[in-house]
Amino acid sequence: MDMLNRVALVTGATRGIGRAIAQHLLNQGFELAVFGRNQDLLAEWESQSVVALAVDVSDAAQVDAAVHEILQRWGRIDVAVNNAGITRDGLLMRMSDDDWETVLKTNLTGVFNVCRAVIRPMIKQRSGRIVNVASVVGIAGNAGQVNYAASKAGVIGLTKSLAKEVASRNILVNAVAPGYIDTDMTRALTEEQRAVLLKHIPLQRTGQPEDVAKLVGFLVSEDNQYITGQVIRCDGGLMI
Ligand code: NDP
Repeated sequence: MDMLNRVALVTGATRGIGRAIAQHLLNQGFELAVFGRNQDLLAEWESQSVVALAVDVSDAAQVDAAVHEILQRWGRIDVAVNNAGITRDGLLMRMSDDDWETVLKTNLTGVFNVCRAVIRPMIKQRSGRIVNVASVVGIAGNAGQVNYAASKAGVIGLTKSLAKEVASRNILVNAVAPGYIDTDMTRALTEEQRAVLLKHIPLQRTGQPEDVAKLVGFLVSEDNQYITGQVIRCDGGLMI
């Protein structure tokens, strides 16, 4: 179908990687809806004719209502990018129930909620593209991040299973696994930690949100017809 009529949804688009993905898709000509929680940052999208909705992805009722609103407006949904995510780091032996549950609920249940809400219209359309933002930590693990790593490994399992469920309906489902990308989430690194990190990245720089956005842009584009169920790393070679 004509690119200009395609409708995309990006979660967690108020900042960081999600914001860059949303801007990239907007530049590509998508009709765009974004989810986030920060009202002031959401309002910045409205000036660009984007439908910006205050949605906590961990709340299924909020997600269902917002997807309904998108369908009322455009009658279809072609692309869903599940990007919203948080960290609550700490060693397992000291991790609170709340830190475990909040991260799983946002990072994994949030992806489930959005996928379940968009899959029926995509099946009806017999086309769709879903990209879930995982992490290299979901593949390799990371000390101090059992909750985050478990949530991202869960996202990878969900992605592969859903890809198999809906492939016959021409819906492609993939995950991207960023390495270290410069956003609020990673800005807490000290200069010393950053220097150590760079030694492990063959491309010798941390990533920019746009590096991930361009990969997502390809995966949801008409140029991608034969890639599904994959986890594509965007990490400067960190995990080679
Ligand atoms: P940021 O902290 O910069 O941004 C997170 C975004 O997620 C914000 O827009 C925030 O919106 C949104 N968000 C968080 N919780 C919710 C929620 N419950 N409902 C709706 N929106 C929510 O993070 P990044 O841009 O760095 O990360 C984006 C994704 O990329 C995450 O899934 C993260 O795990 C993943 N990732 C990041 C890496 C990195 O190096 N930065 C590496 C690997 C993966 P608001 O502020 O409005 O609440």
